Amino acid sequence: CGIVGYVGSQPSSRALDVVMEGLSRLEYRGYDSAGVALVDGDSVFTEKRAGKLANLVSALGSGSAPEAKTAIGHTRWATHGGPTDANAHPHRGGADGKLAVVHNGIIENFHALKNELVQQGVSFTSETDTEVSAHLLSEAFAEARNLTEAMRLVVNRLEGAFTLLAVHADDPDTVVAARRNSPLVVGLGEGENFLGSDVAAFIGHTKHAVELEQDQIVTITPERYSIIGFDGTPAQGKDYEVTWDAAA
Ligand code: GLU
Repeated sequence: CGIVGYVGSQPSSRALDVVMEGLSRLEYRGYDSAGVALVDGDSVFTEKRAGKLANLVSALGSGSAPEAKTAIGHTRWATHGGPTDANAHPHRGGADGKLAVVHNGIIENFHALKNELVQQGVSFTSETDTEVSAHLLSEAFAEARNLTEAMRLVVNRLEGAFTLLAVHADDPDTVVAARRNSPLVVGLGEGENFLGSDVAAFIGHTKHAVELEQDQIVTITPERYSIIGFDGTPAQGKDYEVTWDAAA
């Protein structure tokens, strides 16, 4: 399973290309489904398929994917809910279709959170543990109007292991990611930045990496990145140069 995130300064096919290339470099980790989300104007486009990346490629093949500045991608190793198109990530939150998340790991307390959301009238489209995070983030964004703060509010309610990435059409030049008991690395480019569950996700583009520590949230835009702890205080990751070659 693997995760990729990208944000650049101009809408282009590059966002999708970078994410698809990253997913293919992460294939070695094993997976049963794959998907991508692209921020497209005031909505978020998603495509996802059970099976090999080739299935996702052919689903995207009709050229329906929009040009974008901001994208996230996922390969899934199912833990809750079988390997179906519906259970594949990204998952959407909110009725407005503006938010999407991808997640590696397990949200241990998803049953309790799901019950709470169902009682509020939220309807679920998958059997995954992950989908609760999409709905919680959408609610939190409606209050905070800021994806980083929404992420901070939500991760403090989650138990278990997660590398969690989110995009929102109302915060379009941003990918926000959090990690607990699961890896997350930032890749620093020129006028573009990357996220990966490991450096293989972006090694074709930059060797300058920042590894996040436990219980941290990172926000990337084309020009900068910033890290906070789950308590909201400014934090730093571990900055390094990747020494092995992209061909490895
Ligand atoms: N627990 C999540 C699911 O089953 C994520 C699995 C993964 O790490 O890919 O959908």
